[in-house]
Amino acid sequence: MKITAVHAHVMEAPIEEHFAFSQAWVDKRVGTVIEIETDAGITGWGDVYGPPWIVAAVIEKAYAPMLIGENPLAGDAIWERLHNSLRDHGQRGVAIQALSGVDIALWDIRGKHFGAPVHVLMGGPLRSEVKAYATGLYRRSMDQDENIAILSEEAGGYINQGFGAMKLKVGFGFDYDMTLIEILRGIIGFDVDLFMDANHGYDLVQAKKLALAAEAYDIGWFEEPVAPEDLESYRELRRITTIPIAGGECSFTRFDFRAILESPRAMDIIQPDTASAGGLTECKKIADMAVAHGARYNPHVWGTGIGLATAMQLLAVLPLTVPGVAAHVPMLEYDQTPHPFRQGLLVDPIQVENGVAYVPEGPGLGVEIKRDVLERYKVN
Ligand code: CA
Repeated sequence: MKITAVHAHVMEAPIEEHFAFSQAWVDKRVGTVIEIETDAGITGWGDVYGPPWIVAAVIEKAYAPMLIGENPLAGDAIWERLHNSLRDHGQRGVAIQALSGVDIALWDIRGKHFGAPVHVLMGGPLRSEVKAYATGLYRRSMDQDENIAILSEEAGGYINQGFGAMKLKVGFGFDYDMTLIEILRGIIGFDVDLFMDANHGYDLVQAKKLALAAEAYDIGWFEEPVAPEDLESYRELRRITTIPIAGGECSFTRFDFRAILESPRAMDIIQPDTASAGGLTECKKIADMAVAHGARYNPHVWGTGIGLATAMQLLAVLPLTVPGVAAHVPMLEYDQTPHPFRQGLLVDPIQVENGVAYVPEGPGLGVEIKRDVLERYKVN
């Protein structure tokens, strides 16, 4: 079998309900979907978390010429070759994000060729269902009362849907953050997990103040409190608060995570994005490193349904930090914000019922793509 064509589809859709995290307001959803064709009639699909036009250029200009004519089943060999080809110029960021999407598409081809789900070829499943947490509770209005009303209703909605965990965006200033934490805890009670995510909107001084004040509200983790490069501040924060410290969606490959995990460890929970940190191949290696260092692993997920399916395949094979009935089991990040084509791109969307997500059982990633939806939102 040989690779005959590589396409990077850039997709975009405006959204009516804008929402904000600590860095920006979001007024459109974007995606980069990779399609790799073979002479055997098998097509593999991948998803990239990254700036679409730039990663598409890396895929089509740098990687595609190296892929055409190659055997797609030799995934590790291809990973090494592509990684080395841009190693001097792209040890992290878009070069690795583009590589991630290629790797995912090659796993999809491998699964379809052998007639097995990716997680079976990776040695699983360790589990066939995982708990999903709702990613939402973004800032929706600059008017404080209106914002509180919207987020209160949103949190209640997650409870009604059966979610046992949800994540609040913080990083808007101490008063905003604490007001929302207090109000939301009042609404959801203490039996539901509440996480908070600052999207590295704070420096260490601000992050310390928030962490110490939020401890009373049983926060499950504090995600990206400070800049991803500032591991010394992650370590300092981890020393002074009982709230577990999380991060890693802006880090790449074994080499970044080696620095995060080495003693003194910078994070309690690492969150590599499978469609950004190096693909399924690399993220499984990172997960094994995390276990060896005693760190938890919950994949970051922010993409199309292909990315969601990819995360589920990885979640099916993530090792436990420790065995035992009380073991921490990895969770699915389930994006609940507006997205016109996230699940619509799939013939059979990834199912989440009562806060539980089920691992796709079909060959490869276990998803089929709706070509008409792809064409509708494609902009390149
Ligand atoms: Ca995040």
